[in-house]
Amino acid sequence: MERRRIISDLAKKIAEEMKDFRPLKIMHLCGTHEDTVTRYNLRSLLPKNLKLISGPGCPVCITPDIDLQKIFFLLERKNVILTTFGDMARVPFEGRSLFYYKSKGYDVRIVYSVFDALEIAKSNGKPVVHFAIGFETTMPSTALAILDGVENFYVFSAHRFFVPAMEHLLSLGDVRIDGFINPGHVSTIVGVKAYEHIKFPQVIAGFEPEDVMLALLMLVKMIKNGEVGVKNEYVRAVRYEGNVKAQKVMNEVFAREDWEWRGLGVVPNSGGAINEKFEDFDATKVFEDVFEDFVPKEDAKKRACRCGELLRGLIDPTDCPLFMKACTPKTPIGPCMVSFEGTCNIWARFGIQKF
Ligand code: SF4
Repeated sequence: MERRRIISDLAKKIAEEMKDFRPLKIMHLCGTHEDTVTRYNLRSLLPKNLKLISGPGCPVCITPDIDLQKIFFLLERKNVILTTFGDMARVPFEGRSLFYYKSKGYDVRIVYSVFDALEIAKSNGKPVVHFAIGFETTMPSTALAILDGVENFYVFSAHRFFVPAMEHLLSLGDVRIDGFINPGHVSTIVGVKAYEHIKFPQVIAGFEPEDVMLALLMLVKMIKNGEVGVKNEYVRAVRYEGNVKAQKVMNEVFAREDWEWRGLGVVPNSGGAINEKFEDFDATKVFEDVFEDFVPKEDAKKRACRCGELLRGLIDPTDCPLFMKACTPKTPIGPCMVSFEGTCNIWARFGIQKF
């Protein structure tokens, strides 16, 4: 009851602030925020002139097909153990996924952490390639595993730094956004200071429904007052400096490169390439001869998938004609329906949002 009262009070305050104000569009940047928003149907509590949209906060969703194609290409040519997380193994390309390869006898193993992959390498003579995805939240673990690496352990890094994507999104200019709810998990690592240079209204939020509603209220007030910069609603977990130890290992092992994101194109300084110093663990260097023959393709089946526009905040899942028709959680076409952090998947699981 207490929670219901707090949320209802926050909804009333948001409505008061928004009364007679111009329409606003706020973007959150984390799949877990979309889960909270949809699970608790928070959009139904917002006034008509305040729209909350999801952005590129799902790591599986923003990983472009080219990374997946390269993994398939390597798997078909080298006798390796391929490890990755469950969601990534379900993403289809031309009707195949890593689970498909597993069913055909390839040694694909689902792990819960990069350290599971490292353990497999330590107890097995075969080369182990870990397909590593995720933002600053998971990069420090991959960095530690590399620092503790063994001879037959390699990482194919699809890691991406998140903060450059926020700046890039604003520079694209095709979606009008008035404020960001910054990602809670990423913020525990990068800290409040990582966002200070972005002159745009931002609030770091936790994952309870009260957190999201309070962050929205804070943002509306910032926008009305013409304030830019970052405020921290998630004070119980996010410090100004962030996790300095995690940042140190991450910056030691990864170098920033300009890499492609699904929906956003090439984002400057966002790619988590493995530093030259650790190239003995870098699958792209160790298997360079294999990748020399790689030619990217387009998946015709995915042409109609609008996941990219969704990640850029241009559409809702229901704007995609395939949503819950050809594309469902059991028959996903794009990664936004595959991943538990994907907006299409979340809307499918919790019901289509009513505003
Ligand atoms: S419903 Fe499926 S096809 Fe449509 S955007 Fe989402 S993932 Fe892509």
